Amino acid sequence: MSVRVRFAPSPTGKLHVGSARTALFNWLFARHHRGAFVLRIEDTDQKRSNPAFLQDIYASLAFLGIVAEEGPIFQSKRLALYQEHARRLLQAGAAAEHEGAVVFSVSPQAVTFTDLLHGDITVDTTLFESLVLMKSDGTPTYNFACVVDDALMQISHVIRGDDHIANTPKQVLLYRALGFALPVFAHIPLIVGVDRARLSKRFGATSVDEYRQVGYLPDAFVNYLVLLGWSPGGNRELIAGQELIDAFDLSKVRKTAAQFDQRKLDWLNGQYLKRTPLPRLAELLAERLKAKGWLAADHDLDWLARVAALLQDRLRVLEDIEDQHAFFFREPPDYEEEAVAKYLRGDGVAERLLELRERLSRMSSFDAPAIEAAARALVAERQLASKDLIHPARVAVTGREVSPPLFETMAVLGKAKVLSRLEHAATALSRKP
Ligand code: GLU
Repeated sequence: MSVRVRFAPSPTGKLHVGSARTALFNWLFARHHRGAFVLRIEDTDQKRSNPAFLQDIYASLAFLGIVAEEGPIFQSKRLALYQEHARRLLQAGAAAEHEGAVVFSVSPQAVTFTDLLHGDITVDTTLFESLVLMKSDGTPTYNFACVVDDALMQISHVIRGDDHIANTPKQVLLYRALGFALPVFAHIPLIVGVDRARLSKRFGATSVDEYRQVGYLPDAFVNYLVLLGWSPGGNRELIAGQELIDAFDLSKVRKTAAQFDQRKLDWLNGQYLKRTPLPRLAELLAERLKAKGWLAADHDLDWLARVAALLQDRLRVLEDIEDQHAFFFREPPDYEEEAVAKYLRGDGVAERLLELRERLSRMSSFDAPAIEAAARALVAERQLASKDLIHPARVAVTGREVSPPLFETMAVLGKAKVLSRLEHAATALSRKP
C-alpha cells in the first residue's frame, strides 16, 4: 500500500507551532516511505477563513522545507462532492433532513478503532449527539468533509493532533456508512507550555511566523519540533535533512504531551548557527539588515562575514544582531545610558580615551594584535589597571558594557570609526550631565 498523508489546516489563524509539528510528522512520514503529502485547505467556513492566513500557511510550510506533492486542494471548491455523498446517505436512510440540515442518525453502540500510537480506543456512541453532516447553508461539517476527502484522496494514514481523538469514532461511523475503507489513525500528542496547558500566547510566540521573524534557522526549528515527541535514539539531538527523513519513525512518537522549552530551542539554534558557513551566515544577516535599512544595497559581504565570524558563537537568534550588535552598523552607535554613566564619566577617562585615540591614529595596519599592543603599552606607561582603559574604550566604541572581544571588534569596525567614536566619547559623553 502506498503511503498517502495529508495536512489539513484551516486558514483561520497563523500556522501554530503545534500544527507545524503535525505537518512535519506527516511530511517526514511521507518522505520516509516515499509516499505523497497532500495539502488540503479546510476553508468551508468562509466567514472565519482569511487569505492572509492562507499566505501565512504557505510561507510557514516553505520555511519548514515542507513541499506538498499534491495540493493545495480547497474544500470550498468541493461542495458538490459533499452534497452528493450526503444525498447517498439520505437515500440509504442513514441520514435525515432536519430544517435544511442533513443529520446522521447514530444508533447506540461501541465504536472501536486502532490508533498507531494509542492502540485500541473504544468509545460509546451514546456520548455524542446526532451528527450533523451538512449545515442548512449547504456547507459540510468538519467531520463529514474530512471523511469524504480522506477517503476520496485515498489517504492511507491520518496523522493529526490528539485533540481530534474525540472526532475519530464519529468519523469511523461515517466511513462505514459510506462504505469506505478506514485509514490508519495516529493521534500525536499536543505541545504544551511551561504551565502544561496547551501552548498559548501567554508564554511567548505560538506561530511559526514569529519564530521565523526573530531568526530561528529552519533546520534548527525543524530539529526542535521533531524532538518534541520523538528522538533519533542514543543521546543524539542534532539531526536534519535526509538523515532525519531516514531515521524518522512514526510508531516511536511518544504518547504524552511534549513541553515546549524555549531554552532548548535557543540552544539548538545556537548549535546550527555555529555550524553555518560564514558566507551563508553573512547572507542571512545581510537580509535582515537590508530590511532594516542598516545596510546599503551594495554592502561589502566580505566585511559582513568578518562581523559574522565575531558573532557566530554569540548569537542566539539572528535578531540578536539588531538588538545587541547594532553598533557595527549605526553611526554613532546607541549608547547605553548606564554604561556611559558607569565607565565614561570617571576622572581622567576622557584623557585616556584621547590618548588611546592618538596612538591608534598613528597605526598603519589596524589589526587586533596591533591594537591590543598599543592599548597595553598605554596601560603600562601610564601605570593603569587594564580595566580602566578597556571598559571605557569598550563603551566608547560599542556603546555597551558587554561586547565581543574589544580589539577584534575594533579591527572589524575599522580605524576611521574607532577614532571618531573615541573622540565622540571623550568630548561629548564623558562630561557629567
Ligand atoms: N482542519 C482541521 C484542523 O486544523 C484538520 C484536522 C484533521 O487533520 O483531521 O484541526
